[in-house]
Amino acid sequence: MVQELDFTDVIVIGAGPTGLVAACEAARHGLSVRIVERNATRSTHSKALVLHARTMEVLESLGCISEILQAGKRFRALHVWTLPDRSVIRIDLLRRRWGDTRYPYWLSIPQYETERVLEAHLTSLGGRVAWNTELVALEKQAEEVLVTLKTPEGERKHRARWVLGCDGGRSKTRQLVGIKQPRTDVGVTFALADVQTKTDLVEDEGHVVLADQGLLLIVPMPEPGIWRLIAQVPDESKEMNASDWTELIRVRSGITMEVESLGWTSQFGLTSGVAEQFRNDRVFLLGDAAHVHSPVGGQGLNTGVQDAHNLGWKLALAQRPELSDLERENLLASYQIERQEIARSMVQSTSRATRALTIRNRTSRRLLRSLVRLALSSSRLQDKLGRDVGMLDLRTQGAPRLFNPQLPDGKRLHDHIDPRVPTLLRWQGEELLVRPDRIVAPIGSLPHYANVSL
Ligand SMILES: Cc1cc2nc3c(=O)[nH]c(=O)nc-3n(C[C@H](O)[C@H](O)[C@H](O)COP(=O)(O)OP(=O)(O)OC[C@H]3O[C@@H](n4cnc5c(N)ncnc54)[C@H](O)[C@@H]3O)c2cc1C
Repeated sequence: MVQELDFTDVIVIGAGPTGLVAACEAARHGLSVRIVERNATRSTHSKALVLHARTMEVLESLGCISEILQAGKRFRALHVWTLPDRSVIRIDLLRRRWGDTRYPYWLSIPQYETERVLEAHLTSLGGRVAWNTELVALEKQAEEVLVTLKTPEGERKHRARWVLGCDGGRSKTRQLVGIKQPRTDVGVTFALADVQTKTDLVEDEGHVVLADQGLLLIVPMPEPGIWRLIAQVPDESKEMNASDWTELIRVRSGITMEVESLGWTSQFGLTSGVAEQFRNDRVFLLGDAAHVHSPVGGQGLNTGVQDAHNLGWKLALAQRPELSDLERENLLASYQIERQEIARSMVQSTSRATRALTIRNRTSRRLLRSLVRLALSSSRLQDKLGRDVGMLDLRTQGAPRLFNPQLPDGKRLHDHIDPRVPTLLRWQGEELLVRPDRIVAPIGSLPHYANVSL
């Protein structure tokens, strides 16, 4: 007798931040979801340390922003050291003109905390991560995908309407559907350490040091006395101990920071790349599985979360019977069109910024410092830095994020938009079609299911 196999609307491969958001999105849009993770437990590595304004807006619409804010800490300022003359520019991040967002700051939060909150939120939505469960094979069928998972009890097969590959830079999903992700070597090596220190530096304020010996970043973490250090180092440098780090900071910046002990450490060369496709029929790639880039600017995790937010409502809408086949196909195709464009521009801008900040030639370095000093002396450019890095002005195929002013009722405009279905908004005599991800779409490009007049 043929055994009936389990079926879910969505199988998410990988329980990193992208996969967890993808599973939460699927669940809150009413899709049945299974999320599987190769590892036995959640990672304890701090990796991505910064959440940006646009991502916090996504997590607000998902329903878990208060837990995130509780676990993180706001960056107050960024000091840019344009050595060797010891001049420092202090950018007060909390005083920038951020525009209309409810989250006008960068939030310092280790990735394991972001993942903890997301997993708890998934549980509250009725989902559960299947740990120790690895994707090993995929077979596309006419109306679904047959997925083979390796578990401690042996191999199991499951059927799903959609497979979301959120399985990181070495994505098995990507390999199994034969999508290439050509990589470029950015040509820089970084050493990283989360450290316990004694220092007079003000907590909650970060430092970017453009030293002759190479770039140094000193980033505050939410717990007092704990900092993230990232230093450009020669390729194949030996592993550094606490006193090596103390010395490196002194030599590059003159800052006194006595490193007492090291937590997570890592050394990595940078590569960047974008997958040639983000979709193969019923299989989608999201997060690092689709794009990898330099951590300068802290955009990686943020972009993955926004990929998942872009796709969730589209999968749900695609299941509505009233959509024609053409409408359904256009909607699903728009994921790759929109997110691949954003990923390409992210890879380009982060690679360019990384190359500039790590340039080795002394004359070019001097020129860089002068340019940085000149640019950052402009308050307008400081404001732009906040909004750009905060991803608020990112456009999706030319379409902007819906503005979000404070309203007389004490709420913001986004509070009136249903985060599950497209909405027709009548605002100051105009009609706007707003997608569930709060992007303004051309009128008529989507059926709308909610109406709001303000
Ligand atoms: C040192 C460092 C610093 C960083 N700093 C920042 C920062 O400040 N800001 C920022 O935005 N980003 C930063 N990043 C990048 C960020 O960590 C990644 O972009 C982010 O983790 C991507 O999330 P993801 O869920 O797409 O992939 P991952 O976090 O890689 O998660 C993928 C998951 O899939 C699982 N998996 C893999 N294969 C399978 C399989 N076959 N079956 C089942 N499960 C599988 C893996 O075990 C893993 O848990 C940093 C990265 C590093 C390494």
